[in-house]
Amino acid sequence: MTPKLYGELRSGMIGRRILILSPHPDDEVVGAAAAILRAGAAGVSVFVLHLTTGIPAQDVLWPWDRRGHARRVAHRRAEAFQAANALGVEIVGCCDRPSRTLWTDLPGARRDVVAVVARLSIDRLWVPAYEGGHSDHDAANGLASTFRNTAEVWEFAEYNFCGGRITANAFPDRRGSEVDLALTPEEAGRKSDLLRLYASEQGNLAHAGVTRECFRPLADHDYGQPPHPGPLFYQRYHWLWFRHPRVDFTTTPEVCAAVTALRAVYANAPTPDPMPAPGGRSPAPEPRAPDPASA
Ligand SMILES: [Zn+2]
Repeated sequence: MTPKLYGELRSGMIGRRILILSPHPDDEVVGAAAAILRAGAAGVSVFVLHLTTGIPAQDVLWPWDRRGHARRVAHRRAEAFQAANALGVEIVGCCDRPSRTLWTDLPGARRDVVAVVARLSIDRLWVPAYEGGHSDHDAANGLASTFRNTAEVWEFAEYNFCGGRITANAFPDRRGSEVDLALTPEEAGRKSDLLRLYASEQGNLAHAGVTRECFRPLADHDYGQPPHPGPLFYQRYHWLWFRHPRVDFTTTPEVCAAVTALRAVYANAPTPDPMPAPGGRSPAPEPRAPDPASA
């Protein structure tokens, strides 16, 4: 074990079997690539569940782009499997819900997570921070908060717009429990290579940093309130008067209400978490090998 691993092991963020709740294929790289590499070097098993396709619903795309929707989803999944191979992680599910809709299906997403946590004996959940970077990130964070009685939950910073400027890999509110990872030059190089594997997302990854990563035990967020006074990253273009396909028009009250409703039922879920009820929504599909022809 190299000295740089010691701090994370002592902090408890690694455990034995980690499940990353990745709202989109690429969050595991943007927020946690170096941490994953360090966990893998320490012999820890790391699994990834992609909670959405990473592609918006077909009907929000420009009309002339809609026919290519299935191809875009397949392409993004193929990129995710390439990144997983490079990271040494196993993708345990690729959910079919579109990007930007996680807040509308938190009970279904919870059933997906329950099934994976039970099957793989997960003892650590890693999830993007509640920082207003994306509505799906904030929804996933609230979802993870309902698993605190089942596993240790850690959140990692990706990007936020606190104070009106983009900040990468740093929480908008430091609470003193953060574990800061300074990437070595080798790790920075590997993370840059991983980001490039998501070639279809290059237009959205300009703000991804490769110098640091930051984790902490899931903070006691007030999910009834926005993550910070704002503006939130995903709301930067809400002033547009028409529905541009590249803009997520989800509002903060919508996300807050959905997370609050989920937590009202599950915030004190028992240990171990019960398996999904028969007849409930199917758990996350088994990962499929990417189809090179569709990439
Ligand atoms: Zn994301």
